[in-house]
Amino acid sequence: MHVAVVGGGVSGAVAAYRLRAALGDGAAITVVEATGTLGGKLRTAEVAGVRYDVGAEAFLARRPEGAGLAAELGLELVHPTKARSTVRAGGRVAPLPGRTLMGIPGSPDAVADVLSGAGRARVAAEPDLPPVTLESDTALGVLLRERFGDELVDRLVDPLLGGVYAGGADGLGLRATVPALAAAIDRGAPSLTAAAAGLIPAKPSGAPVFGTLPGGLGTLIDRLVELAKPDIRFGQPVTGLRRRANGWRLEIGDEAIDADAVLLAVPAPAARRLLADVAPAASSALGEVELASMAVVAMALPPGTELPAASGVLIGARERRADGEPFAAKAFTFSSRKWSHLDTGPVLLRGSVGRFGDAGALQRDDDELVRLVRDDLAELTGITATPIDVAVQRWGGGLPQYGPGHLDLVERAERAVAEVPGLALAGAALHGVGVPACIATATAAATRVTSHLVP
Ligand SMILES: Cc1cc2nc3c(=O)[nH]c(=O)nc-3n(C[C@H](O)[C@H](O)[C@H](O)COP(=O)(O)OP(=O)(O)OC[C@H]3O[C@@H](n4cnc5c(N)ncnc54)[C@H](O)[C@@H]3O)c2cc1C
Repeated sequence: MHVAVVGGGVSGAVAAYRLRAALGDGAAITVVEATGTLGGKLRTAEVAGVRYDVGAEAFLARRPEGAGLAAELGLELVHPTKARSTVRAGGRVAPLPGRTLMGIPGSPDAVADVLSGAGRARVAAEPDLPPVTLESDTALGVLLRERFGDELVDRLVDPLLGGVYAGGADGLGLRATVPALAAAIDRGAPSLTAAAAGLIPAKPSGAPVFGTLPGGLGTLIDRLVELAKPDIRFGQPVTGLRRRANGWRLEIGDEAIDADAVLLAVPAPAARRLLADVAPAASSALGEVELASMAVVAMALPPGTELPAASGVLIGARERRADGEPFAAKAFTFSSRKWSHLDTGPVLLRGSVGRFGDAGALQRDDDELVRLVRDDLAELTGITATPIDVAVQRWGGGLPQYGPGHLDLVERAERAVAEVPGLALAGAALHGVGVPACIATATAAATRVTSHLVP
């Protein structure tokens, strides 16, 4: 029995681990990874001698998949310190309002600190607008701007969405990005404020929202691979996928490997190419997924450098520096404040650059990018210390955008793949870009392959 897993990111690594657990040591599992390393967007680098994530840095601990997998693998999970996040809104840095649903408030008071008087008045008037209705899906920005005005979107919703998708409300779809809100409207909530109020718990549960692994998220990949024991083919992409009488042939450069089943765990553009002949409807659906590119500029400052007393700062696209120029960064994470295991020597922080549809600063070379990010940092925090180490990690097409209609598109893709025996699909383009969602798709895809092979 031979299963080929295409793509060695977290989705592929989890799939290989689940397949090994289900199929046992007798099965051959091959992971084909285009680059020279596993992990995909989970990448732990050494910065000033410290293991530091330059891709994903944490995951939602409230969803069961990530925390559950860490426990299953015997990996220690750590949670952020009490430092709060902040947002640069209307030219000043304010604490990030806590009691909102992706920036959508259940009461106007919740967001008062980040809005102007006029912005507050628009938000306060939302419940009095004609009842909200939703036909199919809509761009989140269209709905929110209509109901709350631009300020709430520009100052709060966009910066929050930018942190997850590297995209803003105008390009992201309501149903895929804030499904609970869409469901509340479908159930008849008269306004967005009422819908959010019904969804935001009256009292915070106190349970930590995020978790990470103290050795970096690369540790998760190492452990999965150690247990999955796959054959790994590095350094060349799968370029073609064909059905054979009793299975599959994967083309890798001039070579080919045969397998009984194939699990695709690659980003949407690669999945689109590979599915073109074998599941054309899935291929064209995935071809509709757009991607945002970004870069992480990781810096180690000299020990003792004082960071703000916050876990980080989000920056809206419309915020301007004192010189009138836009910020290059869309967010900073003050990692040595956010994580106590990173508060031990060099002062670590990362600037994130890149928004969907705005290549801007990403076109600069690494030195220039670092200079721009350091200028932003100085403007926001007054920190001008020269870094003792820097790592620039670029993520071209790093994050899929869940536009309006995304759920339909995914349903089309999954339905088409389900009709093809021995083929399964996993990854960030499907049911959430976060690590727990990727783990869930990988687990489901491995289950599908297993039930094909061992009916
Ligand atoms: C900068 C950044 C920060 C993020 N931060 C967080 C965070 O803090 N928390 C969170 O939960 N999520 C975060 N995310 C999102 C999350 O990390 C990703 O969505 C997730 O890791 C994607 O995993 P994946 O395995 O589906 O895809 P990928 O990680 O993209 O892995 C796919 C792999 O397939 C390989 N590949 C592609 N084509 C082929 C081919 N033809 N043949 C063989 N191999 C191929 C690629 O080289 C890659 O290794 C972040 C994403 C980015 C870019």
